[in-house]
Parts: sequence; C-alpha cells; structure tokens
Amino acid sequence: MKKARAGAKPQYCLLCGKEIIHICNSHSVPRMVLDTIAENGMLYNKNKVAGIQYFKCEDGIKSTGTFHYICRECDSKEFIDYENPENILKKPTNLMMAEIAIKNLLLMISARKYERELYQNDIQYLSFVNIQQMIKVNELDTRDYLDDLELYMKIKREKLEYGFQIAYWTVLPYICPIAVQSTFTIYRDMNGALINDPYDLDDKKKNQSAHLCVFPFNGSTVILLFYHKRDKSYKSLWHQINSSSREDVLKYINYLIFALADNYFFSKSISETVLNDKAFVRLSREYLEHPNYGLPPINRNDEKYLSNKPVSADEIPMIFEEKYSIKF
Ligand SMILES: [Zn+2]
Repeated sequence: MKKARAGAKPQYCLLCGKEIIHICNSHSVPRMVLDTIAENGMLYNKNKVAGIQYFKCEDGIKSTGTFHYICRECDSKEFIDYENPENILKKPTNLMMAEIAIKNLLLMISARKYERELYQNDIQYLSFVNIQQMIKVNELDTRDYLDDLELYMKIKREKLEYGFQIAYWTVLPYICPIAVQSTFTIYRDMNGALINDPYDLDDKKKNQSAHLCVFPFNGSTVILLFYHKRDKSYKSLWHQINSSSREDVLKYINYLIFALADNYFFSKSISETVLNDKAFVRLSREYLEHPNYGLPPINRNDEKYLSNKPVSADEIPMIFEEKYSIKF
C-alpha cells in the first residue's frame, strides 16, 4: 500500500499543469462541513458500519476524505464559490456544481490511479478476481473522468451558466449526523428499473456520473443530487424524482448513499440504533447488490450467495429523519 501510494502521486497538477512542489492535502467534503459534525476533531468513516477488521473506523478531520492530487494554489482558489459559508446553504449555481463535480472527479481519478498501482504491486492479494476486467473498468472510468474534468473546467473558467441539472435540492432545518460528497453511477431508478447496466463494458459508452452532497452546516443540512445534462440516462430519473413525494425521494437518496457512495462520514454522536441496524450492516457489505463486498465465495455454488436478496431502501434507517439529528 505504501508503494502504491507513492506511485500514485502525480508530478504535475491536474488543474493548472504546473509541476507540484508542495502537494496539497485537499479535503473532498468541505472543512466547515466536517467541523459542523466532528467531535473533538474526530469522525467515523464508513468502516464503522461495515467493520472490516484491518481498517480504522475513525479519523481526525485532517485526514477525513482527503486526496493528494493538486497543488496548494489550485486548492485555495478553485472551490471558493461552493466552499463558502455565504453560499453553501443556497440553491447551487452552475458554477458551484462545476466546482463540486471537479472535486469529485479529482477524488475518483486519484483513487483509480492508486488502485492501478495496487494491481501492479500486489497480484497475490487480487489472485481471486478477474484482474484484466478490473484494469479495463479502471481505464474506462479514468478516461471518462478526465474527459468530464476538461468539460467542467471549461464551465468554471468561462463561468458558463448552463450544463448541470439539479435532480433534487432541499435544506432540512436541523443537523443530520452525516456528511457526503461523492460521485457514482446510479443503476436503478426509484422503481428499481435498470437505467445503467453496471456490467456493460462497451467502451463506446460514456460513464454516467451523478453527484451527491449532504452538507450539515450552521444548524441546517443541505441535500443535493445533480448531474451534467450530457449524462442523458438520468433524464427519466429527473422526471421521476420531480413527480414523487419528498419522503420517497429522501428515502431513495438515503439508499443511494449507502449502496453506491464511498465518500461519507458520520458524526460520533450518531445513534447506535443506526450503526447497529442489521439491514444497514448488510448493505454496507454489499457491492452491486451482491453480499460480501461483491466477492464471490470460495465455493461458487454457495447457497447463501446465490440466493441473496439485496437490501432494499425500505429496510434501512432514514438518516435524514429529525429523530436522528444531532445537537451540540
Ligand atoms: Zn495547480
């Protein structure tokens, strides 16, 4: 892992192209959001629920959701529209969404680079998975992320006022015990119909990226789901969300976080009822609706694996409910 981390460090800043002298410890979720829910400077990560033995389940703010891929100068000026206490609770502009999406892409590009270094350095660990397929997925993802990044940087540079589409935005009048900033591909709509096939490796097709934020700040919590309009597979989902009840949409977004997002963090004041919920723990160990992080069992006819019924949105606790909100 140490070797992979060193290999994944870029020589040049992906945003300005200059050689990196001092790499930045960039936060994905804005610092002021993490500060809102941290306790004594500490937060739980997703492993608090999944409980993988070898990984930590809490981190200090300084290393919560960070990536090392751009220079300090870019980090201090490229995200100031949305990482702004005056703006963060307001309906996001196109520019704010571009900044959020750019940061999400940087996080993903650096994660994919790190994974590629891992594949190359630790074949033994990966001997039971299809490494060629993983490399192909990794390369296709990276290609599309870089392409999206270029487009979103153009929006940012030229201050364009169009491109992104808000699928859902709301502000809750209390502090939820979770902070999220993540991008992923949504596979199923609110009715469970397939809108993107996760097993389709056709390299002519573009990755469809949705962006999700949950920002507790100043006594409120913003929930934002958006995408760029060229990711057309979300058009029907947009209609569906806009004709559904608030309760159903929040339940769906709640499920998306725990089924698809990677980059989320809990307050240490979060209710034990949520952390220990059986369905919630099961979902945290699913990958693309398969149990055990998606890894096939040693015995390929394993009854439990084959007959697994994926956890549904109705089964898990609704983290946006007021009863789970926290007060300091
Ligand atoms: Zn830079």
